[in-house]
Amino acid sequence: MGSEKVIGIDLGTTNSCVAVVEDGRPVVVPNRGGYKTTPSMVAIADSGKRLVGHIAKRQAVTNPTNTVFASKRLIGRKWNTPVVRSCQESLPYKLVEGPHGDVRIVLHGKVFSVPEIAAFILQETKIIADGHLGDDVKKAVVTVPAYFNDGQRQATKDAGRVAGLDVIRIINEPTAAALAYGFGRDIERTVAVYDLGGGTFDVSILEIGGGVFEVLSTAGDTFLGGEDFDHRIIDWLADGFQHQHGIDLRRDRMALQRLKDVAEKAKCELSAVRETEINLPFIITSGHDEALHLQASLTRETLEEMASDLIDRTLEICARTIQDAEIEGDGVDDVLLVGGMTRMPALQRRVAEFFGLEPSKGVHPDEVVAMGASIQGAALVSDKKDVLLLDVTPHSLGIMIVGGYFHTLIEQNSTVPTSKSHVFTTVKDDQTSVKILVFQGEHERAEQNEMLGEFLLTGLRRAPKGEVEVEVTFQISADGIVSVKAKDLETGLEQSITVTATSGLTEDEIVQMVEDSQEYMVELQAGREFEQQRHEAERMLAEIEGLFPEVTEIISGSSFGHDAVKKARGVCERARRAIAKKDLTELEETAEALGRTVNMFRGVVAKTRA
Ligand code: AMP
Repeated sequence: MGSEKVIGIDLGTTNSCVAVVEDGRPVVVPNRGGYKTTPSMVAIADSGKRLVGHIAKRQAVTNPTNTVFASKRLIGRKWNTPVVRSCQESLPYKLVEGPHGDVRIVLHGKVFSVPEIAAFILQETKIIADGHLGDDVKKAVVTVPAYFNDGQRQATKDAGRVAGLDVIRIINEPTAAALAYGFGRDIERTVAVYDLGGGTFDVSILEIGGGVFEVLSTAGDTFLGGEDFDHRIIDWLADGFQHQHGIDLRRDRMALQRLKDVAEKAKCELSAVRETEINLPFIITSGHDEALHLQASLTRETLEEMASDLIDRTLEICARTIQDAEIEGDGVDDVLLVGGMTRMPALQRRVAEFFGLEPSKGVHPDEVVAMGASIQGAALVSDKKDVLLLDVTPHSLGIMIVGGYFHTLIEQNSTVPTSKSHVFTTVKDDQTSVKILVFQGEHERAEQNEMLGEFLLTGLRRAPKGEVEVEVTFQISADGIVSVKAKDLETGLEQSITVTATSGLTEDEIVQMVEDSQEYMVELQAGREFEQQRHEAERMLAEIEGLFPEVTEIISGSSFGHDAVKKARGVCERARRAIAKKDLTELEETAEALGRTVNMFRGVVAKTRA
């Protein structure tokens, strides 16, 4: 048992990462392209093929409606919520309501649940790890944002099952980061982990000492991340363009996808340089059939101004966490920065000012979470108990009581696992059942919180009101997942109740998906990557070649157009050479440029024909 491998997976909004402990040390496993992180993207190509990771990302600009990114923002969410409504407006792929009030995604006419999409990504990380270890890995520890609620955790666990993994533990991302930071070091410190990724923000305060990692408090926002910074740039570009040309680029799906692409790129560049040029040739056509280009220069200063309130929001949450941890502001010894967004210089500066100390340089923001997960995985199957993790629940758990109020049973920031019992009595004569509504959150009105589910205790003895007593026990596991048990105190009869379909999937659906995914694994392991990539590249080449004469005629008049055509020819040549040489890495690198070219060509032609 002690030697069984457990992989640690950081299932990120933007990128995912997998690690495993080897010779007592956590090691991040690179994917086939040699990258240590893999884009959390899934697409269905025109051929019906499923594409995951880099290959999905590279074709995103040409296939925006069938390419899923940032699905972590949707996992475990209910359809009828403001968050999902805002996603519907801003995402290029189509969302529909699922049969259990959950969110589903439509790709090429086929409906997928969000855990299923997450499963495809987990499966990809499993394949990466299998290749490295030369073994079929079965067990995993998967990380989630600390602020995820029960539904989001349950959905992540289900995704693991669909991917053919036994998720032995779900752990919180900041906790995992702290674990990687403190592992094997003889330290006694209070550490703040500030984790800003693509879609979520978390902060946790931990005490580390003697192999014990105790979380004192945690808080966050599951809808605040790099995507919001990108949106600020998109709006800045689109507003400027609208001011100049009177056209709103956000209304054009293809233009919007291109804007999104350059916005993220510019944001990342501005972490290293002070100013960056943004060029989107032939972004749209004016009412007089004139091709329009977007050209702008964005400075780091402007970006900092635009995003300053987003950073403020994270710092307000930090202040709350410090208060909840009951330590003084200067009681923090180290600050760890986790997540790709923490590369932004303004963010580093503001965090340093807030905590009054320079953030620790020793951790890799993209890799530390997966490393921590692998350490926890190894500890869980090891006989040596050298790591003890004591985490907390991010949300209070309770029930709705008379008047619609929320009665808290388990307080926010309680150490997990934990349980609490509550005795319910009948309120009417001859009442044979009791309905209990379970919620998570901090609002005094139950309905303002997240409803986890409702259950009915039935078969109670007929008796005058108040006579029958039922003890209900609420449990939160070390994964942060809720379960409920009920016991008739008179008869001692127990009923175990699962909070219904919190992840949006029924048991039957999960079993079916597990079966489907096994077939896909067999297909993938047969090693079709080059063929997949070649097929995709040839499709794009054919499209570019078909459009060349028309595009050349439209745009070659301008020097701008002349350069664009020349560049496109170069890209096509490179792709053809890579196909001839059967060079997968080269082909993968060219695929992105091919995608951009197709998209630009389509844009030029579509706007002119319109
Ligand atoms: P993660 O979810 O931790 O992979 O973080 C991804 C987020 O970090 C995305 O929004 C990226 O655009 C952002 N990011 C990655 N690199 C940088 C960088 N150098 N500067 C600013 N943001 C970055």
